[in-house]
Amino acid sequence: MAAIDYDIRDERFVKLIHGNANVEVLWRGGRWTEGPAYLPAGRYLVWSDIPNDRVLRWDENDGHVSVFEQPCRNQNGHAVDRQGRLIACEHRSRCVSRYEFDGTRTVLADSFGGRRLNSPNDVVVKSDGSIWFTDPSYGIDSDYEGDAAPMEQDGRHVYRIDPAGGLTRVIDDMKQPNGLAFSPDEGFLYVADTGRTHFADCAPKIRRYAVAPDGRSLGAGADFVTCDAGLFDGFRADTAGRIWSSAGDGVHCFAPDGTLLGKILIDEAVSNVCFGGPKRNRLFITATTTLRSVYVNARGCT
Ligand code: MG
Repeated sequence: MAAIDYDIRDERFVKLIHGNANVEVLWRGGRWTEGPAYLPAGRYLVWSDIPNDRVLRWDENDGHVSVFEQPCRNQNGHAVDRQGRLIACEHRSRCVSRYEFDGTRTVLADSFGGRRLNSPNDVVVKSDGSIWFTDPSYGIDSDYEGDAAPMEQDGRHVYRIDPAGGLTRVIDDMKQPNGLAFSPDEGFLYVADTGRTHFADCAPKIRRYAVAPDGRSLGAGADFVTCDAGLFDGFRADTAGRIWSSAGDGVHCFAPDGTLLGKILIDEAVSNVCFGGPKRNRLFITATTTLRSVYVNARGCT
């Protein structure tokens, strides 16, 4: 059990946390954990341990942890679609895939313009069934989180898979797009840029793009928030439009206007978060070598 450690920056944050709710360590033993996704029907959570090439599964009923899939083609980010199917970003196979109800795997996207994708990193499903994902180069930069390979695309971009099939590029002005999430009304897509890892002049930030009236494309982006501790990687929105983001010193919670409300301090770099539990008020946190959780007074978007 970790010590309680909240950094309250705004009075509103006091109402979003439970002062007597500890951050719990649910599991230890990963190298770089990522990609948490909660599956409500089974009351379990899956997450990635990318360098160890495995997806793990934590059972909410009894806390049991088991290997969900290994090898797993170095999966990273996950999402659950509107039918309850798990969607996966795969570094080594450089694709976005789906676990079907019968257990088979369908590759949804692995190339754009006749060239292989870099290494899909994180993914979100919109209410219309479209799947939006980021494609930075981390999974092909070295053999640690995938297979080292030259980049075939002309940069690191964001893509949309249409429910009827077909892939379009929706963002092409970022350095290393990473975590992403829609606002509750799906009027905005938020995307983290971790380009600082490769470009010294790229501030660690989350950008925000207005979704066009057609629901399929985006308007111009603008910087939403800048990170004061490490990098923003994966994040989620709650039903009030707040953003709960990973960062180097824990989880940062932002109001819809970008005000930093507070932090949940963690003694390892956090890579990603997701809401889960029957009330979606339990925040699951992948933090370098551990899986952790804490109950908050907010509910995550589906
Ligand atoms: Mg990521």
